[in-house]
Amino acid sequence: MSARAPVLIVGGGPVGLALAGELGWRGVPCTLVEKTDGTIEQPKMDLVGIRTMEFCRRWGILDWVRDAPYPLDYPQDYIYLTGLNGYELGREPFPGRGFEPCPPESPQKRERVPQDMFDPILRRFAERTPHATLRYNCELVTFSETPDGVRAEVRDTTNGKTESIAADYLVGTDGGASTVREKLCIGMSGTPALTYTTNVIFRCKNFSALHDKGLGYRFIFIGPEGVWLTIVAVDGADRFRMSIVGTPQKINHSDDDIRAALKRAMGRDFDYEIQSVMRWVRRELVADRYGTDRVFIAGDAAHLMSPTGGFGMNTGIGDAVDLGWKLEAVVKGWGGAELLRSYDAERRPIGLRNVAEASRNLRRMLSTRERLPGPEIFAPGAANDVARKEYGDWFAAVMRHEWFANGVMLGYRYDGSPIVWADGTPAPPDESHPYVQTARPGARAPHVWLGDGRSTLDLYGRGFVLLRLGHNPLSGTSIEQAAQQRGVPLTSIAIDDAKVLAAYERKLVLVRPDGHVAWRADQEPADAGVLIDVIRGQGNQMKQQKLGSNP
Ligand SMILES: Cc1cc2nc3c(=O)[nH]c(=O)nc-3n(C[C@H](O)[C@H](O)[C@H](O)COP(=O)(O)OP(=O)(O)OC[C@H]3O[C@@H](n4cnc5c(N)ncnc54)[C@H](O)[C@@H]3O)c2cc1C
Repeated sequence: MSARAPVLIVGGGPVGLALAGELGWRGVPCTLVEKTDGTIEQPKMDLVGIRTMEFCRRWGILDWVRDAPYPLDYPQDYIYLTGLNGYELGREPFPGRGFEPCPPESPQKRERVPQDMFDPILRRFAERTPHATLRYNCELVTFSETPDGVRAEVRDTTNGKTESIAADYLVGTDGGASTVREKLCIGMSGTPALTYTTNVIFRCKNFSALHDKGLGYRFIFIGPEGVWLTIVAVDGADRFRMSIVGTPQKINHSDDDIRAALKRAMGRDFDYEIQSVMRWVRRELVADRYGTDRVFIAGDAAHLMSPTGGFGMNTGIGDAVDLGWKLEAVVKGWGGAELLRSYDAERRPIGLRNVAEASRNLRRMLSTRERLPGPEIFAPGAANDVARKEYGDWFAAVMRHEWFANGVMLGYRYDGSPIVWADGTPAPPDESHPYVQTARPGARAPHVWLGDGRSTLDLYGRGFVLLRLGHNPLSGTSIEQAAQQRGVPLTSIAIDDAKVLAAYERKLVLVRPDGHVAWRADQEPADAGVLIDVIRGQGNQMKQQKLGSNP
C-alpha cells in the first residue's frame, strides 16, 4: 500500500506536533508518524517559553494552555538549600503562573506546563485542522530522496505491517537519536557528555508538610561538593522530579543511590512512590547540517542541549515555525528555489547560540563546585547565618542569568540570512537580560499595544505584512504589486501610532509570516520586484550586495 503527503513529519514529540499544527494552520496537508502510542512515560520539558506562548497566541490556543491542570497559584520560587530540613541559602521568588505579569516587550509570558500536559495541547491543535493526519504506532524504518520527492518506509508497531509513504518533503522531528539524521549521515559537533544524570519522577502526597521550605518550583541542593541535586514540582501537586546532577564521568546510579539521594535531600526517610527513572546524558551538540533539499531535521534531532534554561523544546518550536511558512510557500508555489535552504542558514546559528547559552547556565549552577561552600554553611549558629547569607546571595546573583532570559527566548535574530535584506545598521548586543526589542531586519518584529487592544504581533502570521507607519504613510504600492505578481500573500496596513513608529524606526517595514522583519526603509524600494524575490528566496545575496541597503 502506498500513501502520499506533501509533508511527512517523523516523530510526534512537542516539535513534531507543533510543526503538524503549524502546517495544518497554514492549510498545508501533512502526515505525522509517531512510533509510540503517544503516552509520555516521563515528562521532560515543563517551561513553555515566552516566544512559544506568542506562537500559541497566533495559533489561537492560549485558553488551552491556561486551562492546563498545572495550578495557576502554585508558587514558582527557586530555592537554594542545604536540605529540605536543612538551611535555606537563598530564594528567587516568583508567583504562580496565573499571577506572573507579561513583560512590556510581549503580550504573553512564559508558562509552566509540563510535557504530559503540553503535548496533548499541541496534539489537539494539530488534530483541530483537517490538514494534519497523525498516525501513532507508526515507525519510520527508512527513506530515500530523489530530486522530485521522498519515499519513506514505515512500519505499524502493533502488527509489523510495512507500507510506503511518498512525500514532497520530509521533516525529522524524531529526537536525539534521530533516524532521519542518521540516514542523512549528518554528524553532530560539540561536547557529547556534559554530565551523566539520573531523573526520578516520584509521587509524595504530603511533600510540603515534611519540611519548612514551603512551596516552590525548583529546589537546588548544595552540599559540601557544590550543587548535587535538584527537585522540581512537576505538576504543582504531588509529583516531583529529582535529578541527580552527576558529572562528566560515566555513572549508572543504582536504585540504592536513588533512595539514598531522596533521604539525603529530605534529611530523613519519608514515604514516596517512584514512578519512573530516566538515566540520560546531558549533551551540547548541534547537527552539522539541518538537512538536504527535501529532508530536514528540527528539534532535538538537530540540537541537544542541557535543560538549564528550558531552551530545548522552545528552540525546536522555533525551528518548526521557521520551516512552517517556508514549506507552505513552496507547496503553494510562491516560494523561491533558495527559500528552504535558508532554514539551515537561519536556524543552525540559533541552535548553536542556544546550546551554548544552556551550557553556560549549567556552568553557572555548577560554579558551586569551584567556589565550594565551607563547613560553616552546614553548621548551626547565628555567625554561620551570615556566611550562609553571603554564599546564598552570591549564588542567587549567579543564577539570575538563567531565570531572567527573555533575551534568549525573544532576541534571536536571523542576521546574515540570505532572505533578509540587511539595512546596514549595527547589530545590537545579543544579551539574555535585559532584552531590548529591535525591528532591525532579521529580528522578531517588536510587540507594541495598538489602540484597539491588539498587539502588533496579532497582525502577523498568515502572509507577509507591509507596515506603513506615520502620519502620512507611504503608499507601498510597488511592493504590493510586486508581491501580487509573484503570488506572494501580502497585506498592507497603515498605522498612525507614534509608539509603533518609535519601535519600528522606519516608515515602511516588511514583516514575514513568522513575525520576523524582512526589510525596512524610509522610502519605497527602487525595485520592489528584487526585494520580493530576495525575501521569498528567489533572489540571492549577490543581488543584495549589488543594490546595497535599499533595493
Ligand atoms: C529533564 C529535562 C527537562 C527539560 N525541560 C525543558 C523545558 O522546560 N523547556 C524546554 O523547552 N525544553 C526542555 N527540555 C528539552 C525538551 O524536553 C526537548 O528539547 C524536547 O522534548 C524535544 O522535542 P522533540 O519533539 O524534538 O523530540 P522528542 O521529545 O525526543 O520526540 C521525538 C519523538 O520522535 C519519536 N520517534 C523517534 N524515532 C522515530 C521513528 N523512527 N519513527 C517515528 N517516530 C519516532 C519518538 O518516539 C518521540 O516521540 C528538557 C529536557 C530534559 C531532559
